[in-house]
Amino acid sequence: MKVFVVGGAGYVGAHACLALHEAGHDVTVFDDLSTGYRQAVQWGELIEGSILDLAAISNALAAVRPDAVMHFGARSLVGESVAHPYPYYQANVAGTLNLLEAMRAQAIDKLVFSSTAVFGEPSSTPITEDHPQQPTNPYGRSKLMIEWILRDAAHSYGLRSIALRYFNAAGADPQGRIGEAHEPETHLIPRLLRRARGEAMEMQIFGTEHPTPDGTCVRDYVHVLDLADAHLRALDLLGRESGHQVFNLGNGQGFSVREVVEAVEALTGQSLGAVDAPPRAGDPAILVASHQLAARKLGWKPSRSSLQVILEDAWNWHQAQRYSA
Ligand code: UDP
Repeated sequence: MKVFVVGGAGYVGAHACLALHEAGHDVTVFDDLSTGYRQAVQWGELIEGSILDLAAISNALAAVRPDAVMHFGARSLVGESVAHPYPYYQANVAGTLNLLEAMRAQAIDKLVFSSTAVFGEPSSTPITEDHPQQPTNPYGRSKLMIEWILRDAAHSYGLRSIALRYFNAAGADPQGRIGEAHEPETHLIPRLLRRARGEAMEMQIFGTEHPTPDGTCVRDYVHVLDLADAHLRALDLLGRESGHQVFNLGNGQGFSVREVVEAVEALTGQSLGAVDAPPRAGDPAILVASHQLAARKLGWKPSRSSLQVILEDAWNWHQAQRYSA
């Protein structure tokens, strides 16, 4: 299939391009390179442009005429979204509406969409798809709004869409060609690994009195290539089923911040000097998701998502190479 990947120069998007290419699909990336990297686009042509520009996205879709679209393009920092909600709703909601309009004009009716943990503080774990959705910040709300829009689009326009909700994407291409690189880096695992490589990065453990076994937050880390594999399966399902569907892509197993710190120290053989710090605003204590529905309908099961493999692949990437700005 010809697949048009919005945000394919970013972390999860680039790994999806790798998986698409290896599965024999034809990839075109559309990215404004605001947070992505030109060097991450290795498996298809790059069209530089923004979904905030309706003409640019319309022209690109008209030129490529893809069979399906995958949409990874978003602003995704929780704290920044609280400080500056307008650009978040603009980029994520208004940008996606432009993409949907442009797809409709070209009669492109298949979309795989990157969603996130839209649940807020969960009332039960592992979190299933029907758990109440009460995101606690503008970033999460922007993603939930798009899920609603996609449901309406299925009903009114016949758009086929699948929203894949990621939890904590981690790891990298084991061959070290692409990996995680955010500037600034806020995520736990890459911060620890950059610290282990000698970068001046203060390591803090946000919150040590959460209602968890060791008092630190518990998260569900899933290997980015397992996420990429779910996208291939979603693409396949879109060929068979109409409507809007959502899947939680969890590993079903959580690790605490302290466990992750200790695992990185064991892997790298370094003491990282992580200090206890106050909790980060809006951080739920535990986020662990079920993948029962994804297993049943997509045949998806994470296969690289042990903490050990995730950390080895991420460490390999951090040591092998980093993109230059
Ligand atoms: N975290 C931390 N120190 C850091 C970065 C993150 O203690 O320097 C914690 C954070 O509070 C959360 C977990 O690590 O409980 C994972 O955070 P990350 O930002 O990687 O992903 P999130 O869960 O926010 O999507």
